[in-house]
Amino acid sequence: MNKRMEWDLKMIYLDSTSTERPLPCAIESFQTALTEYFGNPSSGHAYGQRARQALEEARATIAECINACPNEIYFTSGATEACNWAVNCMANSCVGVSCSPYEHHAVMASVDRYDSLGDEELFGTATMLVCNETGDILDAPRDKGITLCDATSALGHIPVDVSKMGVTYLTGGGHKFGAVPGAGFLYAKKGAFIAPEIVGGGQERGMRAGTENVPAICSMAAALKWQTDNMTKNTLHVMRLKTEMLNGLKGADYMVNAMGEASPYILNVSFPGVENGALALMLSKENVMVSTGAACTTGDNAPSHVLMAIYGDEARARSAIRISFSHTTTEDEVKIAAKKIVDCVKTLRGMTGWQK
Ligand code: PLP
Repeated sequence: MNKRMEWDLKMIYLDSTSTERPLPCAIESFQTALTEYFGNPSSGHAYGQRARQALEEARATIAECINACPNEIYFTSGATEACNWAVNCMANSCVGVSCSPYEHHAVMASVDRYDSLGDEELFGTATMLVCNETGDILDAPRDKGITLCDATSALGHIPVDVSKMGVTYLTGGGHKFGAVPGAGFLYAKKGAFIAPEIVGGGQERGMRAGTENVPAICSMAAALKWQTDNMTKNTLHVMRLKTEMLNGLKGADYMVNAMGEASPYILNVSFPGVENGALALMLSKENVMVSTGAACTTGDNAPSHVLMAIYGDEARARSAIRISFSHTTTEDEVKIAAKKIVDCVKTLRGMTGWQK
């Protein structure tokens, strides 16, 4: 693990689904690229060629991790850009677009920009692989018609094989699996419709203008490779953590929010009678970091659209927190955090006089 700062050592970080702690190999790869491959990958001279080589090696690594071909990978600034781009590609090659009600706003807001009139059979459809709020693994049929799979919360945690899945487009972002922020990617199956959204220079084979962020891209490739290589061991570890947490929460009268099989990295629980924002804040003061849902909706007063779509129960949605684990989380941290969560829940319920 990286050397942690003193303030960080006091904290229990249970919000890896928002951003994973950068992996040592990802930081190293970032630093190497910054110092050794800082040339512009479009330049014809030796510095440019070194940067180009690093970029193409990163592309080949990412392709290998998801069983794609390197020329099916296009680099972006992150998952949001990749999701927007994929939705727009679908919209331009189908009668319309639709998505599951559980999608992240990066997909949903894009889909909302299009007309929903027409024959739904001919729509391009988007279904994420792992729900970033509940951890649910959404086993949607992806091999018929034009499909987008937002794999942002799945990559590096569960196997992602584009050829087995049969998807047309797939998206991801590096900081979710331990890379430094600033890079993501779009997979577009060979022959799939693709048109540039960002125009200018001829980067990414003319499909995405702008000088590539080589250091962040190298970091993303290193992180995905490390996660892929260590997946079995890490999965067993976080499974134990999830069980430990559920055992530790037993005194707190909770409900697990999930529709079925979920990623072991994510646990979403509601505590009836408790307002989730107050709980997350109280826990942060106790040095335990959890979230109330997607990080990009913090401060938003609306209940989670995902939990509303699953349960239609506002009280349940407003009392839910997301606890997410990492291979770096320890069993001791989980035991301490569970106890603090139970204590905070009891305190908050005591304030409002909540009774079962
Ligand atoms: N898709 C999913 C499933 C996510 O969880 C997120 C971020 O939380 C995104 C897309 C967007 O990622 P970013 O904000 O890094 O662009």
